[in-house]
Amino acid sequence: MSTSGQTEVLQWGLPRLRDLPWRHTRDPWAILVSEVMLQQTQAPRVIPKWFAFLDAYPTAPSCAAASLGDVLRLWQGLGYPRRAKNLHTAAQEIVRHDAFPSTLEDLLQLPGVGQYTARALLAFAFECDAAVVDTNIARVLARVSGRRLTAREVQTAADALLPPGNSWAWNQCLMDVGAVLCRPLAPRCHECPLREHCSWRREGEDPAAGSAGVSRSQARFEGSDRQARGRLMKALAQGAVPFDDAPALMGCDVARADRLIAALIGEGLLTRGCSTLSLP
Ligand code: SF4
Repeated sequence: MSTSGQTEVLQWGLPRLRDLPWRHTRDPWAILVSEVMLQQTQAPRVIPKWFAFLDAYPTAPSCAAASLGDVLRLWQGLGYPRRAKNLHTAAQEIVRHDAFPSTLEDLLQLPGVGQYTARALLAFAFECDAAVVDTNIARVLARVSGRRLTAREVQTAADALLPPGNSWAWNQCLMDVGAVLCRPLAPRCHECPLREHCSWRREGEDPAAGSAGVSRSQARFEGSDRQARGRLMKALAQGAVPFDDAPALMGCDVARADRLIAALIGEGLLTRGCSTLSLP
């Protein structure tokens, strides 16, 4: 993609940026909370949870001072509660260092912060030159390139396109091209600012399928371990649960419930007393 592709993306994207609340702040804590929530949850479900979380914990120190149980209770409904534990531990790390990390290397030390989240913080909180590769951008780059990309190739392609000094706007606009136009199914190529630069344009096999960073469709939720774990975590948010009640509550047999409970205890997401289970 040439620099004219950059201009076209920015010209298309800036006037119609999706109005997402975390786009109105540069507060690194608020951005971190949004990015962790968005890791496995769609934006419309994240929005009310993001407001509620920041109401309760407007700063990293306020979250660090809370009990993990309270943080997990607030997380209820978002799923993948390990993210809440990571966020809580990250808040404690930030307090311990008495500063929010602001380099790629330091951000990557925070629990639950990988290459994507670290770069998102650099670009969206600190407005540093950092190319973000989320699933939307990874899909766009694979299609524009016309082939499946490795993780290294997709990051290299993203880095090469980044207009210096305009990282915040560029990443947001390219994300929106992916989310609004270059959708997984039925991309709207005729409206796309990249159509003149794109190798695929819906002709032949989709190069985004199996390309690095492009999320696959989630496994079935109904009947899954995730569903059973979610049911237990939801019940625990209301209070302690008698151990013997857990299998029925989780909708599974005793052996499966035991295995899932052991895993949750191992992850530090619940504790077991004499005869009850509760949040930490
Ligand atoms: S032209 Fe079509 S396939 Fe190519 S980037 Fe745009 S929407 Fe995606």
